[in-house]
Amino acid sequence: MDYKETLLMPKTKFPMRGNLPNKEPIRREEWDKNKLYEKVQERTKGRPLFILHDGPPYANGDLHIGHALNKILKDFIVRYKSMSGYHAPYVPGWDTHGLPIETALTKQKKIDRKKLSIAEFRQMCADYAMEQLDNQREQFKAMGVLGDWDNPYVTLTNEYEAAQIKVFGEMAKKGYIYKGLKPVYWSPSSESALAEAEIEYKDKRSPSIYVAYEVKDGKDVLENGTNIIIWTTTPWTIPASLGISLHPDLTYAVVKVNSEKYVVAQDLLEQLAEDLEWEKYEVEKTFMGRHAERIVAKHPFYDRDILVMIGTHVTTEAGTGCVHTAPGHGEDDFYVAKKYGVEAFCPVDDRGYFTDEAPGFEGMFYDDANKAVTEKLDERDALLHLTFITHSYPHDWRTKQPTIFRATSQWFASIKDFRQDILEEIKEVEWHPQWGETRLYNMVRDREDWCISRQRTWGVPIPVFYGEDGTPIITDETIDHVSNLFREHGSNIWFEWEAKDLLPDGFTSEHSPNGKFTKETDIMDVWFDSGSSHEAVLLHREDHRRPADVYLEGSDQYRGWFNSSLSTAVAVTGKAPYKSVISHGFVLDGDGRKMSKSLGNVIVPADIQKQMGADILRLWVASVDYQSDVRISQDILRQVSEGYRKIRNTIRFMLANLVDFEPQKHTVEEAKLQGVDRYMLYRLQNLIKKVRVSYDTYDFATVFQEIHNYIAIDLSAFYLDFAKDVLYIEAENDERRRSIQTVCYETLVALTKMLNPIIPHTTEEIWEYINDVEAEYVQLTDMPEAREIANFDEAEREKWTHFMKVRSDVLKSLEEARNEKVIGNSLEAKVYIAAKDDATKQLLEEIPNVHQLFIVSETVLNEKHSKAKEYEHVHIYVKKHSGEKCERCWMLSHTVGENEKHATICTRCADVVEEHYSHLV
Ligand SMILES: [Zn+2]
Repeated sequence: MDYKETLLMPKTKFPMRGNLPNKEPIRREEWDKNKLYEKVQERTKGRPLFILHDGPPYANGDLHIGHALNKILKDFIVRYKSMSGYHAPYVPGWDTHGLPIETALTKQKKIDRKKLSIAEFRQMCADYAMEQLDNQREQFKAMGVLGDWDNPYVTLTNEYEAAQIKVFGEMAKKGYIYKGLKPVYWSPSSESALAEAEIEYKDKRSPSIYVAYEVKDGKDVLENGTNIIIWTTTPWTIPASLGISLHPDLTYAVVKVNSEKYVVAQDLLEQLAEDLEWEKYEVEKTFMGRHAERIVAKHPFYDRDILVMIGTHVTTEAGTGCVHTAPGHGEDDFYVAKKYGVEAFCPVDDRGYFTDEAPGFEGMFYDDANKAVTEKLDERDALLHLTFITHSYPHDWRTKQPTIFRATSQWFASIKDFRQDILEEIKEVEWHPQWGETRLYNMVRDREDWCISRQRTWGVPIPVFYGEDGTPIITDETIDHVSNLFREHGSNIWFEWEAKDLLPDGFTSEHSPNGKFTKETDIMDVWFDSGSSHEAVLLHREDHRRPADVYLEGSDQYRGWFNSSLSTAVAVTGKAPYKSVISHGFVLDGDGRKMSKSLGNVIVPADIQKQMGADILRLWVASVDYQSDVRISQDILRQVSEGYRKIRNTIRFMLANLVDFEPQKHTVEEAKLQGVDRYMLYRLQNLIKKVRVSYDTYDFATVFQEIHNYIAIDLSAFYLDFAKDVLYIEAENDERRRSIQTVCYETLVALTKMLNPIIPHTTEEIWEYINDVEAEYVQLTDMPEAREIANFDEAEREKWTHFMKVRSDVLKSLEEARNEKVIGNSLEAKVYIAAKDDATKQLLEEIPNVHQLFIVSETVLNEKHSKAKEYEHVHIYVKKHSGEKCERCWMLSHTVGENEKHATICTRCADVVEEHYSHLV
């Protein structure tokens, strides 16, 4: 007869190949149709809340690999939490205001803004943002990210804007909002402030001058009459000169040239001497920059004190190390001057012409003033040298004309007023990685006041009115009213309605005796938008709460969203908006280079999904140490695919051997299991423990490692390998066979659950093939809990750990025998094993059918063969078995042919066949 028919060979329709690119979209459609997300929320309602609050990506363009890393990590957490005792709603968000969208419309879509009203243009921006949002939403969903995609939070919605106005109002009420001067990029040709993104660098020819500032009060460091030399390529800023900055840690030299004394950074002296053609000079003394603090010099042509300030922005790249400081015309200048209480001074108007605050130059265009100023300096003997240089200089991208820095009126959030509270709150937050705490702490500690106004169109208006005398008006009443108006009509009305219509009925103010009001036209910094999400989403959204449990973003967000959210939340509530912060690194190519079009090394998530599947992309995310910078390449993805195949094939093997297993009916009591089965269950519990701890600490690489190793080593290379001799060979209902199936079933269910947050498409597919599952989707179940295994104590654990070491010895000896051509297949072996100690001896004798665990045909125990080799724990001799090969189980045995009716099989097989397959004979 054909004994093949008497074998219980594995069978399953679960496909070997994932065919993920084709099957995943169908599965996701089914999740959508069947409302999987809603079902998860329904199931977990009433459990403790766990809020991972989504940082909103900017709604512009296709998603890159960094987006994928970010959203997939979040999905791991949310999926896991809702399977481990929490109610974890996930509401994705989008950041929708800001310059890139304005630019996309004017540049890519060639919209002529001049033909549109502000409100019309803003409506186009809103439409464009929503289009982009739709596109990105589809791309995120295609990664298998589960969330409330139909109800995301969007910063341009009425509700959101209304909440943001409240945050602003609350901060204003506490006195944290003020109007002040700050230098910004200013385009005289456009008569407007420009954002950094609107600046183009082009070459420009400029004068390059050295100027002497005479010391008036040297504070015991410098003699009065000594000259501090500055260098500048913008002589026109000299009328606005209020100080000279020195670096605290640089060494400065007092140089004597003829009868004059000059101050210059020592490192730059040689170059200066060359430029100024000093034939003979002598260093009289040196001093550290910090010691020159508050020395007073004279302005070269105005009757004005020039303060020596200390700032770390000073470099020795060019010039003299003594930086002419005009706080109205430079950002570094502005900040250093601010520390010394020196106010910005800007005698240049919107069009770039000098005002009467710059006597001698009034009405002159700034660029023409270069010559006039240089002449004036020369007249006063302050000009030491003049040449011309060509250098890279910021230009207005629209008019192509040079820009200047110009201090203008801006709105600020006064960080210094609540800095201490922020710093205290940082200590209360849990940081992953730990260095995040220091990074944000230092950033906040060193942070200047936050300039929150922008002279742009596409954003949330700054809800401030002005009285007839120019006094800004922000009251509880105006804030509530504007917030309500925005909630009802959207913020476009700010640009459509007149100020009086935006104010509450009958509003009066002492600043407007005639009842006339105007309104602010600046909008808020987009970081204020997203930074208000704790109010708009955490506070207002049902099923949410402030603070959130986790914020998880790229490490660039210490400067961005982590920072802006913390600032506004502490300002408004006194508390951080998050309990913990997780940051991830950037995605680099396989060689650790940044991805760029020019290098041709850009890997796009959509391509990975199309070529390999979203689960491969997700498995890659799980495999990397995401808290540092991570790498991706085709090679790396191929390795990840290998790992995926190992997981899939091993699970397929288990499914295929469980088709006839009905857990309710066939599960074997734990007490009746053999030691090796209990050992495997114990190993599984161990795995569950490690995996749960790793998920709880957001260590997904360990989750993946542990599961992969368990599958590859414990299961594939050990348990499932020898189990074939039971699963295929024994009768269907044989207790030994049902025992192994019992172990496999529990293992399979546990693995499917533990893998679900990482590869949900695959696990939901597996779930469909598991008999008698507890719920419609794996996502609707709870993670396995590690449990005690009956009759498996510490002694058992040690015993089996030791057995695995003995097994290594045996595997080594078999490998050697194969190399020496003593045997081919391990089933051809007869192995003599002699223990070197009593414990090993006892152990080997105790295990039933120990040859089966070694996958050999026969073992002779505790008989030291004369040709035995010594291994770590045992002496082993391997010889070729002299029996015949059983046609059914492939073991070599002397019993083959003993049963005459079944001449080609062993007696063990013959018994099974006679008892269970007599109908086939
Ligand atoms: Zn057999």
